[in-house]
Amino acid sequence: MTSLREIASRIEELLPRPVRLMEVCGTHTVNIFRYGLKSLFSEKLTLISGPGCPVCVTPQEEIDYLIAVARRDDVILATFGDMIRVPGSSGSLKEARARGANVKIIYSPLDAVKLAKENPSHKVVLAAVGFETTAPAVAIAVLEAYKEKLTNFLVAVSHRTMPEAMRALLGSGELALDGLILPGHVSTITGASYFEFVAKEFGLPAVVAGFEAQQIMRGIYLLAKQIAEGRAEVEIAYREAVTWEGNPMGKNLIRQVFEPCDVAWRGLGLIPQSGLRLKEKYAAFDAHKNLPVELPPAKEAPGCLCGEIICGRATPPECKLFAKVCTPETPKGPCMVSSEGTCAAWYAYGD
Ligand code: SF4
Repeated sequence: MTSLREIASRIEELLPRPVRLMEVCGTHTVNIFRYGLKSLFSEKLTLISGPGCPVCVTPQEEIDYLIAVARRDDVILATFGDMIRVPGSSGSLKEARARGANVKIIYSPLDAVKLAKENPSHKVVLAAVGFETTAPAVAIAVLEAYKEKLTNFLVAVSHRTMPEAMRALLGSGELALDGLILPGHVSTITGASYFEFVAKEFGLPAVVAGFEAQQIMRGIYLLAKQIAEGRAEVEIAYREAVTWEGNPMGKNLIRQVFEPCDVAWRGLGLIPQSGLRLKEKYAAFDAHKNLPVELPPAKEAPGCLCGEIICGRATPPECKLFAKVCTPETPKGPCMVSSEGTCAAWYAYGD
């Protein structure tokens, strides 16, 4: 098998000029660090991390909301493990749990439905954070709760969708990118055609890559080839899991339960039509509507550059808190907590 270093040399030989490529998937970010792929390239190829970590792009207000509802005596907050240590304006869900809040870690959104059935005297609030990848499983949970006529199941929807955020980032022009490594997980649901706008509207090459070192390098190789040949297309280098059209069942589930809405992204601000909310038919399950909470203005840790890092405008070492005050044991921002966060990956594996 050709070594990673040899593939990197071939990629650089192809490149007519120095290029900047961005990955927009948290799992790619972590694996690029884990496999040391950045270090295989000279200054001719720079890899930049984008807004691909769903926990990291969730703004402070939405994290504060989860912590506030978790503190209510009549609520069980059901969350995936990646949210539990994310710092809100005052503490985290983990700290709230240590002070008595009923916070349960779940492994599937249907676990939250089960919790609701087993605890009729409590409201069970599902923290639904994630991109197009996780939205279908949350949709299944909502449909199940609807079928069961549950009145104590609520969903705090923090789902975000990639296209409009990518348009906002690419449209700003400030990153001077030459190509995108498209998100593999999101593409398994949406299909690669979902990202055709990257090539058509922005004239950028884009490749859906898998997650192993060789697969990521193959994606980068195809991007370099497009750049060398002056092409801008969307290609799939992850045919094991991704098709052009995507997963019809997953896409139908999203369409059945959710509709697009305007949401804020950490670092990117309010982006029209870049989020999902429950359709009116399922409004009874909307936690924000049915369990409103008065919150003081959100505060981020002074000096935390998560917003800049998410957008590729800064790297973790540029944050004064990185590896000093902020470590995986004492995280000050979501990028140091999430398993897909750039700061956590940089801390664990270095540049
Ligand atoms: Fe935020 Fe910590 Fe990353 Fe700095 S090192 S940007 S404080 S998560």
